[in-house]
Amino acid sequence: MDSPPTASAPARIAILGGGITGLTAAWTLRRAGLAPVVFEQSDRVGGAIGVVRRDGWLHELGPNSLLEGSPEVAAFIDEIGLGPRRLYAAPAAKQRYIVRDGQLVAMPTSPGGFVGTKLFSWRAKLGLLGEPFRGRSPADAEESVADFVLRRLGREFLDYAINPFVGGVYAGDPALLSVRHAFPKLHALEQAHGSLIRGALARRNTSGGPKGRIFSFPDGLPEMPLALARALGGAVRLNHAVASVGRVPDGWRVTFDAAGTRGAETFAAVVCALPAGALAALKFENVPAGDGLAILREIEHPPVASVFTGFRREQVAHPLDGFGVLVPQVERRQILGTLFSSTLFPGRAPEGCVGLTTFVGGMRDPQLARLDEAELLRVVQGELAGLFGAKGAPVFTHVQRWPRAIPQYTLGYQRFKSAIDAVQAGAPGLLIGGNARDGISLANCIESGRRLAKAAAEHIVRALPASDLPPGPGAGRQNR
Ligand SMILES: Cc1cc2nc3c(=O)[nH]c(=O)nc-3n(C[C@H](O)[C@H](O)[C@H](O)COP(=O)(O)OP(=O)(O)OC[C@H]3O[C@@H](n4cnc5c(N)ncnc54)[C@H](O)[C@@H]3O)c2cc1C
Repeated sequence: MDSPPTASAPARIAILGGGITGLTAAWTLRRAGLAPVVFEQSDRVGGAIGVVRRDGWLHELGPNSLLEGSPEVAAFIDEIGLGPRRLYAAPAAKQRYIVRDGQLVAMPTSPGGFVGTKLFSWRAKLGLLGEPFRGRSPADAEESVADFVLRRLGREFLDYAINPFVGGVYAGDPALLSVRHAFPKLHALEQAHGSLIRGALARRNTSGGPKGRIFSFPDGLPEMPLALARALGGAVRLNHAVASVGRVPDGWRVTFDAAGTRGAETFAAVVCALPAGALAALKFENVPAGDGLAILREIEHPPVASVFTGFRREQVAHPLDGFGVLVPQVERRQILGTLFSSTLFPGRAPEGCVGLTTFVGGMRDPQLARLDEAELLRVVQGELAGLFGAKGAPVFTHVQRWPRAIPQYTLGYQRFKSAIDAVQAGAPGLLIGGNARDGISLANCIESGRRLAKAAAEHIVRALPASDLPPGPGAGRQNR
């Protein structure tokens, strides 16, 4: 097991965490001719990705869809053989709703729609005309999402566009999130163009319009981790909890607990694709600044409950003709939003029925996510009755709780990234990524896994004698 890597025995790389980041890294390394070994503490792969499927209902427990935002993500889905399985969001799900004054108001999707929408007042709409003339903030300024939006777009856009959006993406609070860390593209747009409107128009002109479609798979997002795990076969070790990582003369020593037994193996490199809390708890031996990662414990992860309710079609008055609804905090309701799951993708509800996925809690109302199940369902049912005219008890329910749902990229987040950078700088062959560092979306995590794999392969190339280099893309010296 611990023999040094040679051309006949490719370099072994430990991957800590079998979520989408770790599996993407492992799969990419395998393709490059290296030998990844994935350590996953639980009894299944996928991490935050999971489904419950019962009696014709399908509840996506964590993420519900993936944005095909970059060519890299699109290509990756094809490479892993899931291209033909890709299920784009139904055209009927194009419409998105926001709650305003207790009513569902469709979000405008065109300039004409924007002029006519009831979502924003005339005053707010006219105020937008001044946006291109407002100054940009200094490049290194640390500003909250709320302050950024107030400065550029005004109060109504914060309350009725950005606040619900941030609730939907981060289950977060715009007053606490850092714009440069939580929404780096928005920050970059202001920096590059001095205006969001000018930047958006310029991008539209160069890229030919907005792109990036939302998709999932017929059996839900777990198709992705399951396909990766299948391809990796015995290289994925479930029920293996990593306890420590230490630098040794011939590489990296990974210590783990499996079925009550402690084991240890040596690898040429280690890729950490763990949630922040797990990374903070990991023991680092002979790693300069390794103790510094304990600071990652301070990253906030509010609890979120994902509550799936199924109704017979006739029980719900609203046509559910859209993606779903987001709820602004100023509306003082008890949910963050609801996805019209059975409109979004086929196969989420039995014939003649509709399925809704409602999110509760987050930074806004963490205590609501901790209610007992009956109380949680009562809260959700009440909100669905008020918003969509859902009558009577749902015919199917399922509740999934996430006690630590999504890392909040709050003001001052650079200190966490700097702690990670400091460790990596003094530890060649130790690579750290995942959603605490590289962004929270699934697309970000796939890109993170690719980045980690590339960095690990480059480390192997640097560390090994030329005769021992594995064949394969990304691993040859000529590729450096
Ligand atoms: C409720 C919810 C809704 C979301 N909705 C969306 C969405 O619609 N679209 C979207 O793009 N993103 C969404 N996200 C975000 C996205 O799902 C996550 O950011 C992403 O899945 C994280 O992947 P990861 O591999 O980095 O981490 P994880 O999925 O957390 O995987 C890490 C893995 O490491 C394992 N592990 C932990 N400690 C150890 C240890 N000591 N040893 C070995 N293994 C260990 C864990 O068991 C886990 O399997 C959502 C997240 C949540 C929670």
